[in-house]
Amino acid sequence: MEERGVDLALVSVGADLPYLVGYEAMPLERLTMLVVRIDAEPVLVVPELEAPRVEPGPFRLRPWRETDDPVRIVAELAGSPRTAAIGDQTWARFLLALQDRLPGTRFVPLSPLTQTLRIRKEPAEVEALAGAAAAVDRVLARIPTEVRFGGRSERDVARDVVDLMLEEGHEAASFWIVASGPNGASPHHEPGGRTIERGDVVVVDVGGRRNGYCSDVTRTFVVGDAASDAADVHAVVAAAQQAGREAVAVGVSAGDVDAAARRVISDAGYGEFFIHRTGHGIGLETHEEPYLVEGNDLPLEPGMAFSIEPGIYLPGRFGVRIEDIVVVTDDGLRILNQADRSLVSVE
Ligand code: ZN
Ligand code: ZN
Ligand code: ZN
Repeated sequence: MEERGVDLALVSVGADLPYLVGYEAMPLERLTMLVVRIDAEPVLVVPELEAPRVEPGPFRLRPWRETDDPVRIVAELAGSPRTAAIGDQTWARFLLALQDRLPGTRFVPLSPLTQTLRIRKEPAEVEALAGAAAAVDRVLARIPTEVRFGGRSERDVARDVVDLMLEEGHEAASFWIVASGPNGASPHHEPGGRTIERGDVVVVDVGGRRNGYCSDVTRTFVVGDAASDAADVHAVVAAAQQAGREAVAVGVSAGDVDAAARRVISDAGYGEFFIHRTGHGIGLETHEEPYLVEGNDLPLEPGMAFSIEPGIYLPGRFGVRIEDIVVVTDDGLRILNQADRSLVSVE
């Protein structure tokens, strides 16, 4: 805060608060806010009914009652700061009310401060990510023998996969994409009522939370035997994904990893069908920095964790994506997901 000329930090909903003090605010209309003054002990302002969930931490607790005005409490604790950094996901209504109460204060985003901390994972965080990845890998290993695809809806398959995620040690499932046949051409397809048929290519992209940290993995399956065009496209994506992994090293830029994966797909003639960045950071949130996108010249450092997930999306036909979570280490790369990357056949 001192380095950045910030005299007050206000941290509310989102992952910054659990990262800093181990408590996650409910994303409610009631205000939870950690008030960090550069010259005073931090204070956690919470609704009184949430106070029992708060474990002791490096802060003083200030519960507020249903008839109190929590914005006024925060403003009083704040004093008269010149520059306040406020969490990116704080509800606009609280920021607007605070701006009214603190007219002399300039508000800036908190993320530039917290991202410099969160972008490099500590060893315990890497182990938490590895545990989440291993859990979702066990789900993928069970899918071919335990989940029937043919003749069932995407929604039914997705429900089975979510059950497996919980059985394999996730506290919660965060998302469950099952995109069959032509629906696979939409990268974030919402599983629906389409009945899966023999010969369909099916993109399965799922993730959840385990010990607070996220898993996120994609494999592409085929129901029965793959048509040759599906096998060919899958081979291109697999080569692109491998090229992305092989490009990762300390000092290489995030954009260079994207370029390495993209080049394989472009060279095979599918460049216009790879319609998203190659990857995203992961930690307490499924999507966080660093982003592996063209033009990002951020150099990779040990401890950075992110996905590598190239895909090819052929409108009206099918899609293919392969995704792993990896961590940059001093001696290269640690791949957290080890599940079979081939075009696995399911029934
Ligand atoms: Zn995605
Ligand atoms: Zn994913
Ligand atoms: Zn992802």
